[in-house]
Amino acid sequence: MTLNLVFLGPPGVGKGTYAEALSKRYNIPHISTGDIFREEIRKGTELGKKVKSYVERGELVPDEIVIEVVKKRLSQPDCERGFILDGFPRTLNQAIALDKITKIDLAFNFVAPKSVIIERLSGRRICKRCGAIYHVKFNPPKKPGICDVCGGPLYQREDDKPEVIEERLKIYERQSAPIVDYYRKKGILVEVDASRSKEEVIKNCEDILKARGLLH
Ligand code: AMP
Repeated sequence: MTLNLVFLGPPGVGKGTYAEALSKRYNIPHISTGDIFREEIRKGTELGKKVKSYVERGELVPDEIVIEVVKKRLSQPDCERGFILDGFPRTLNQAIALDKITKIDLAFNFVAPKSVIIERLSGRRICKRCGAIYHVKFNPPKKPGICDVCGGPLYQREDDKPEVIEERLKIYERQSAPIVDYYRKKGILVEVDASRSKEEVIKNCEDILKARGLLH
């Protein structure tokens, strides 16, 4: 049995946070295409150079690049029992390509009002060293600007700045509707109210997985 999951939802809805928690609990990798790209940009690789301008403008990286990256990642041995895809697929083309790579068991669609999303995104801070996620109001570090886990410096993603957030949400709305429909038609889409606390959202996901016979 596999636990091949797709997490859908606008930027800032908390997908990464829920994915991280479930990934640790069930020992399956959390694969975020955004994290992969940011890491490649940081390292200054060929791939990083190719995607830098798109990521910094909050625009989608071309399908053929993203699909290749995901295909390679899913072929790694740690994905055999399952995985959580976060931030992929973002276009219908990517969803169709994913079905050719592997079988998806369930797609979670996380939803929350726009005001909640904007507040979560604009307060988000990330550790430069270990990638831990904080929020200036909802999950502040003990010392402002410093990571509790590793002592690294916290930063705000270029694309979490207010002038880019609106653009990302617009792109998301335009692109996501067909993907949500695609998984709904396959009968593997479940909607999760992500305006609640992190613990409640995670518990809800686990209950859904159990009800579907994917978790015991
Ligand atoms: P995220 O961390 O998921 O918000 O992704 C950050 C940025 O990486 C996005 O704004 C895009 O520029 C790029 N990106 C991540 N995943 C994808 C994807 N599936 N398709 C296209 N671009 C992506």
